[in-house]
Amino acid sequence: MVNAIVGANWGDEGKGKITDMMAKEADIIVRFQGGANAGHTIVNDYGKFALHTLPSGVFYKHTTSIIGNGVALNIPVLLKEIQSIVERGVPKPKILVSDRAQMVMSYHILFDQYEEERLGGKSFGSTKSGIAPFYSDKYAKIGFQVSELFDEEALKEKVVRICETKNVLLEHLYHKPLLKSEELIKELMEYKEMIAPYVCDTSAYLWEAIKAGKNILLEGQLGSLKDPDHGIYPMVTSSSTLAAYGAIGAGIPPYEIKKIITVCKAYSSAVGAGAFVSEIFGEEADELRRRGGDGGEYGATTGRPRRMGWFDIVASKYGCRIQGTTDVAFTVLDVLGYLDEIPVCVGYEIDGEVTTEFPATVKLEKAKPVLQVLPGWKCDIRGIRKYEDLPENCRKYIEFVEEKIGFPITMISNGPGREDIIYRNGR
Ligand code: GDP
Repeated sequence: MVNAIVGANWGDEGKGKITDMMAKEADIIVRFQGGANAGHTIVNDYGKFALHTLPSGVFYKHTTSIIGNGVALNIPVLLKEIQSIVERGVPKPKILVSDRAQMVMSYHILFDQYEEERLGGKSFGSTKSGIAPFYSDKYAKIGFQVSELFDEEALKEKVVRICETKNVLLEHLYHKPLLKSEELIKELMEYKEMIAPYVCDTSAYLWEAIKAGKNILLEGQLGSLKDPDHGIYPMVTSSSTLAAYGAIGAGIPPYEIKKIITVCKAYSSAVGAGAFVSEIFGEEADELRRRGGDGGEYGATTGRPRRMGWFDIVASKYGCRIQGTTDVAFTVLDVLGYLDEIPVCVGYEIDGEVTTEFPATVKLEKAKPVLQVLPGWKCDIRGIRKYEDLPENCRKYIEFVEEKIGFPITMISNGPGREDIIYRNGR
């Protein structure tokens, strides 16, 4: 059985925690898109970890972690990450890397930086991990697949061709040092040595695992609103963040994905530029940022302060729909315990009309939030394990959100730890 864990919003919803928790019952956890540009923060018995490339199931002895073909694979980052968790006492994880995954090259990272520099104030707020240049090259068919590392002759020829095209841009657009084919070959050969022990036909492996009835989790990075097709284009990421893409980025049949668990945070946060209708500012935002997540809302990869906002019904309803949600995991609810009243964005006003349908970017830029204020519960709900034990106003908040987004909230996360979870059975 295959289940997907994906985000409803702009990312940072707490997917890492839900994956780490669900991995207890899983055999295989697969990353199917994205790269080392975003991170998951996980708190468990070994401590607190920020993972960027490894799936959030690496902390168990019984799981296999797979880097699927859809991932932007930064080999040195992956190896460093493996080393860093092992150094902190985590048993060496079993990791398989798809032979069809493509590699982030050092020049992708440079091109990302050069382009941000060139755009100046009009930049996309890239994390400069090379992700956009990487995926551009993949679809322009000038990327490097892991499998190519094992055919040196063909690789040498390809490197020369790639230097030619890249060097035109480096010389005439960016005025930066040119690429040298010998150096790129050296880089690729280093990658070959590092990655060889992990390389596998992961799609075939997963096919056998599905037939054998294994429990497989697909772990998404970022969230619906950062999807290049369905998100807030162009302020999106460069690979699909949707569960449907899990089938492609892992190489499995789409009909095998049985449950789509969409993680939805009890308030909003976003990184980078782009429309964010329910955004709040000033002291109100600072306080939520300070209290948010586990130790504040700052990027796991970049350390950047996240933009903050109230829960957005319009964006979350859409975010859940476009994922194909079967279950919602409603997270970080404990953080809201300090508020007397909790505003929720229940509609967007665009050109004088109120809508609850999430619009395409041009209209989205004009949207103003319509807020409804719900009473707070004014206490700490961490440690509560049963839904009935939550304060009445807290349950009302959950039920209000559930009714408005139209998807069942089957899990409520009320703390960063594995055990901080309330199941609502029978929904
Ligand atoms: P991801 O990318 O979706 O995995 O999310 P991040 O790891 O970037 O952000 C989630 C943050 O919230 C992390 O610091 C988690 O430890 C923390 N977190 C997850 N669930 C909860 C929760 O229910 N309550 C609190 N207080 N923190 C949580």
